[in-house]
Amino acid sequence: MPNDVVTMDKIVSLCKRRGFIFPASEIYGGIANTYDYGHYGVLLKQNVIGQWWKSMIQDRDDVVALDSAIIQHPKTWEASGHLAGFTDPLVDCRTCKQRFRADHLAELECGRRPSKHPGEDAQCDLTEARDFNLMFETTIGPVKEGGTTVYLRPETAQGIFLDFKQVLQFARRKPPFGIAQVGKSFRNEITARNFIFRTLEFEQMEMEYFVPPDEADRWYEHWMKERFDWYARLGIDAEHLRLRPHDPGELSHYSSATSDVEYRFPFGWSELEGIANRGDFDLRQHAQHSGEKLEFVDPQGGERYVPHVIEPAAGVGRSMLAFMCDAYDEDELGGERRTVLRLHPALAPVKVAVLPLLRKDGHPELAREVYASLRRHMKAEYDDGGAIGRRYRRQDEIGTPFAVTIDHQSLEDRTVTLRDRDTLAQERVAIDGLARALQDRFAVE
Ligand code: ATP
Repeated sequence: MPNDVVTMDKIVSLCKRRGFIFPASEIYGGIANTYDYGHYGVLLKQNVIGQWWKSMIQDRDDVVALDSAIIQHPKTWEASGHLAGFTDPLVDCRTCKQRFRADHLAELECGRRPSKHPGEDAQCDLTEARDFNLMFETTIGPVKEGGTTVYLRPETAQGIFLDFKQVLQFARRKPPFGIAQVGKSFRNEITARNFIFRTLEFEQMEMEYFVPPDEADRWYEHWMKERFDWYARLGIDAEHLRLRPHDPGELSHYSSATSDVEYRFPFGWSELEGIANRGDFDLRQHAQHSGEKLEFVDPQGGERYVPHVIEPAAGVGRSMLAFMCDAYDEDELGGERRTVLRLHPALAPVKVAVLPLLRKDGHPELAREVYASLRRHMKAEYDDGGAIGRRYRRQDEIGTPFAVTIDHQSLEDRTVTLRDRDTLAQERVAIDGLARALQDRFAVE
């Protein structure tokens, strides 16, 4: 079972070693909770996002796409409740001068005695908890004084509510229908832990699904199942996933029901995505603050109502981390230890590696020809550096599901060896039709 061997240290070091993800601004000593994505990290991230879009707007026809601005009118956050209520309770320690989330003290380390939690040591001197807004502020205008204070969005959802009326007009849809968006959000998080699980800037994949009020419960159930299944379909062991309904005391001010899709990370069960029944809170708030009518009016029957909203809100980085943790495995191959990412082929950064057995005798020439034909259809990689075993292992570590090897026989009969990352089975396959044979194996069921 892959999940049994994985630790966060192994994931962090694999990400760094293979250039998936590494600390940002490292030459200046890094910046808390901020990471950069390298080549394979970018490809994996794009595949996660691509699969999300596919599930939203290709596999169904009741959701449309949107890309709204990161900086919106400041009234947005007044209406949404973020200005007043999007806060974390923080305490300061007067002794070590560090700041902690008051609701996370039991998991955090004391600034001077890392074996203890803040407040546990006799020398700890914690202040009362104070609310601290998570939104980043900046200023529009050439001078700071007199400029307009604006905020980097802490979620993409509000841009969708602001554009509800516009989209309703051009999308020619009536409830139930959804508006989906992927983009960066920003939160001034102070707890630095667990790699990319909680970062200052992160990408969200959010969809607001507008429904007639009396259908809200049904659609809430629908989206919980859909979203849970999405992770399982893309390779996460269903045993490592669960849906956890929020207790009444945990619910956000706008929500009548919320459930989190949680994943069993090496550091414990944690949220990947929240599915919330937001009622008509957001549309009513923005209607009230803007003076615009934000409702659905049926052109035929004249029916008029404010739709209720079901929101599945996922994080790209957290999903990536879960996909990588679940795919991570170690096994033994020919007496040597192998690290392998058993990623679903649809998510794998590189789909196929093309490897000439030798760097002579016409192998590289034919391998380049095969590479050129495959890369027209999928992300392929050519590698002729080092022993063949080393090259296989490099590809195993980045999760490449297939490797094609060109040898003497290839020159004679135009067949290649196709190696499967997981079963290690090797079969002889004709070069003609190779791309099609591979593509058939990538499909998401
Ligand atoms: P948490 O309780 O972990 O802070 P949240 O419940 O505040 O998360 P939501 O506001 O529901 O999160 O955001 C939806 C999704 O966006 C989360 O499930 C998560 O995947 C992602 N997300 C939220 N905050 C962060 C962050 N700081 N870093 C990375 N991803 C995040």
